Amino acid sequence: MADMTHDPTADGLDLIKAALGPKGILAGEAAAPLLREWRGRWTGRPCLIAAPATTAEVARIVSIAADHGLAITPQGGNTGLVGGQMAMNGEVLLTLRRLNRVRKVSPLDNSLIVEAGVTLAEAQAAAAGVDRLFPLSIGSEGSCQIGGVISTNAGGVNVLRYGNMRDLVLGVEAVLPSGEIWNGLKRLRKDNTGYDLKQLFIGGEGTLGVVTAAALKLFPRPREKSTVFVALKSPDAALKLLSRAQDASGGGVTSFELMSRAILALVFKNIPDTRDPIAGEHPWYALIEFSAGREARLSALVETLLEDALRADEIADAAVAANEKQAADFWRLRHSMAAAMVPEGGQAKYDVSVPVASVPDFLGAADAAVLKIAPKARIIAFGHMGDGNIHYDILQPVGIAREEFAQAAAAIEVAVYDAIDRFEGSISAEHGVGVARREDIARRKQRAEMEMMRAVKNALDPKGVMNPGKML
Ligand SMILES: Cc1cc2nc3c(=O)[nH]c(=O)nc-3n(C[C@H](O)[C@H](O)[C@H](O)COP(=O)(O)OP(=O)(O)OC[C@H]3O[C@@H](n4cnc5c(N)ncnc54)[C@H](O)[C@@H]3O)c2cc1C
Repeated sequence: MADMTHDPTADGLDLIKAALGPKGILAGEAAAPLLREWRGRWTGRPCLIAAPATTAEVARIVSIAADHGLAITPQGGNTGLVGGQMAMNGEVLLTLRRLNRVRKVSPLDNSLIVEAGVTLAEAQAAAAGVDRLFPLSIGSEGSCQIGGVISTNAGGVNVLRYGNMRDLVLGVEAVLPSGEIWNGLKRLRKDNTGYDLKQLFIGGEGTLGVVTAAALKLFPRPREKSTVFVALKSPDAALKLLSRAQDASGGGVTSFELMSRAILALVFKNIPDTRDPIAGEHPWYALIEFSAGREARLSALVETLLEDALRADEIADAAVAANEKQAADFWRLRHSMAAAMVPEGGQAKYDVSVPVASVPDFLGAADAAVLKIAPKARIIAFGHMGDGNIHYDILQPVGIAREEFAQAAAAIEVAVYDAIDRFEGSISAEHGVGVARREDIARRKQRAEMEMMRAVKNALDPKGVMNPGKML
């Protein structure tokens, strides 16, 4: 007679422990950072933390999980902002940190093959080592991993010129929910032989399999850069300046980051050793980076551009970085913005994208709607204006309790989402869905879209092994 009390998952856990040995199982102090989301929003409660070192070991774990009723949550650098990497319901947490080899660097192909646990900064360095550029750049690049940036289809500050992660991946190696290994590590620029299956894993948030390695696109390294901080009257002026800068540089604008005075003031208040690049206070600013090949004479081009913009009343003032240190100081202001908000109390955060030309009107409409609900709300807007992607955050008003602010949060959310809909935008431009936006996408996407997504999930993962409760 079958033993009705026997739990097959316990057998599965024993098999995983035996397959990986003590080095491949994390506990205690080594495990603690993997269980905490960096802002403290979510806490992990996995049944086991597995740290495989090879693709074959990942495949073995997933196959055991599929056979024994276990679920798996993959984790990269644990820098995701929507909770997708947290194993909150007794899943096996699978960290990719030991899959950290650079497998092949091919400057003549302009390609790089790395394993999933290589950090973004290490991938950039591997490219630089052969005089090439891997252009994806985000504030968390020292910690986030290639498997994570693929699985979240990360964007960042260079999307305007090079695209987001989806544009930068040539091939993917992944372990499917059955435990089978799919070697899709082709380095082809052209391959029209059916569905482009790697796209399922890019932005897949670990729900369709575990990315174990990837072939990435490399580019020539820019020989010249110019970094400029400008003061502006309005987002509308920023839009005109963006267009002027793209025209004048022949597409040489690598980044165009918009920021309001409100967020810059919080950086100066909460982040040590930061200072204003431009005298006086202005309502808006933009950080612009141009890059080009050796012959571009960028500084002359930028000087003429700024003079023209000043004459056209598009900018009020400008500071051009005189050297790399000054450029790094400008970028530090931009990269400190998320951290600068943390000490300021409750926050409602939105990662919005709208068509680039609609950014000024979106900001006007959203601000008016939010202030109607919470007249003292502190609205913080900044981000990748060149991609139409604005981080639109509402901070707890000064002198109002966190609980009181939380009561207004639901109405604020409706107001912001309505403004996004009006401008045919997205409620998650680059941070993904995870657990934070799961119910929102189910409510807002077209029925046909949700059905196609569920059909893909059911076809690849009928047992629900991969990252349950995330995205779908
Ligand atoms: C300071 C800061 C700045 C940021 N700036 C930006 C920005 O400008 N642009 C932007 O797009 N994002 C930004 N992010 C968020 C961004 O999503 C992450 O930094 C990064 O893309 C996630 O990589 P990670 O390795 O940390 O993944 P994790 O956080 O560990 O995981 C993220 C998701 O991917 C899944 N996953 C991870 N590894 C794998 C794998 N190998 N196979 C399958 N699934 C996997 C996880 O299950 C989870 O669903 C920022 C985050 C921080 C903290």
